[in-house]
Amino acid sequence: MIDLKPDYFVDTIYDIDLTVLKKNEINTILIDIDNTIVPFKTMEPDDKVLAWIKLLKNEGFKLCLVSNAYPRRAQIIAGRLDIPVIYMAKKPFKKGVVDSLKLIKSKNYESILVGDQIFTDIFAARLAGVKSILVEPMTTSDFFMTKIYRVFEFFVKRHLIKEKMK
Ligand SMILES: [Mg+2]
Repeated sequence: MIDLKPDYFVDTIYDIDLTVLKKNEINTILIDIDNTIVPFKTMEPDDKVLAWIKLLKNEGFKLCLVSNAYPRRAQIIAGRLDIPVIYMAKKPFKKGVVDSLKLIKSKNYESILVGDQIFTDIFAARLAGVKSILVEPMTTSDFFMTKIYRVFEFFVKRHLIKEKMK
């Protein structure tokens, strides 16, 4: 049975401690789109997200979006953020995560994936040998399939404790 526990569990992307990532020799952040950086169905990342992405770039992190979203929407968001994207990533399978690492020439051991879903994001990261950060979903609206995952997720998440990153 694969361990579905994320390496870190925080409220939002803004609670991610970049100093801790650097200390752990992480130089690459793979980022889920829906309900992690933009609410489901939203096309426009807000100013706060744009500033966060800029900060990550300034801090020297390599970035790639890894999303199960369809090409058009994923590409529009990636364009706004000016970072590469792997769309239709088919998480929980690892292929999309592996492809994103190839795309930006990063290794799995120096990378971490941020996402809001245990059964897609955290699972795919684990299969690809990438560390992971679970965030709370930005909204409660989701794809139909995600709503089903959320039921099971509840039971796994119950055992997770949010704590300060170290
Ligand atoms: Mg998501």
